[in-house]
Amino acid sequence: MKTETKEVLLKDSVDVKTDDLPALNNRFEHQLLDDLLIWAFEQFGNELVLGTGFGPSGVVLIHKITQLNLPVKVFCLDTNLLFDETYSLWDKIEKRFNITIESVSPILTLEGQATLHEEEMWKSNPDRCCYLRKVLPLQKYLSNKKGWITGLRRSQSDMRKGIDKIEWDSSNKVFKLNPLADWSQGKIWDHIDEHNLPYNPLHDEGYPSIGCIPCTEPSKNQDERSGRWKNMEKTECGIHLPNLQNKK
Ligand code: SF4
Repeated sequence: MKTETKEVLLKDSVDVKTDDLPALNNRFEHQLLDDLLIWAFEQFGNELVLGTGFGPSGVVLIHKITQLNLPVKVFCLDTNLLFDETYSLWDKIEKRFNITIESVSPILTLEGQATLHEEEMWKSNPDRCCYLRKVLPLQKYLSNKKGWITGLRRSQSDMRKGIDKIEWDSSNKVFKLNPLADWSQGKIWDHIDEHNLPYNPLHDEGYPSIGCIPCTEPSKNQDERSGRWKNMEKTECGIHLPNLQNKK
């Protein structure tokens, strides 16, 4: 693997303020992905983490941080309901990039959730299920962090089209970095092809987006998020609510 090393100057303390966000977004909107990742690590150091569900955007980000030698911790919200193909990709990525990806799990096992609440809650109350298995574990995990990097992109859905590259995540009280906000789906796949990166084989079987088994289906729809919570109003699990604070 080709390795590029750039000097990273770590700040003693975070000096980014929410008031700085418009200027920072102007600055980084047309800069390279590498510049934003390096800046973020300089600002947040060991309190910067990268969250992934092993979609193609997450694979690109993991590739970039390892290529830049940025020791950013990578984590996955493991709901215990991921596909075998996703767990295999997780292993493959750890081996390929020589990293350990932290598993962030819900407090309740699936059996515990069924006993305390209800069986197969994803059918009757998917918002509550996502809250217990994703939103709460993420809140707990981020409670001692300063920034988290996501693979969100504007072209993924209407809900995501207004995201900025740097936002204040008021739910988790951290800065949220969306360095691929302006990348198209084609650019992501070109990067994966160019660097021969691993990806989830379910994409080749017609799954545009891959999450938990009970809430993910193949789809012929061109929408990048289609196939998730099919036949429901729901389009997001709740960890990526639109951040209106930055739009004031
Ligand atoms: S995606 Fe489905 S199974 Fe996974 S946490 Fe949300 S509702 Fe539950």
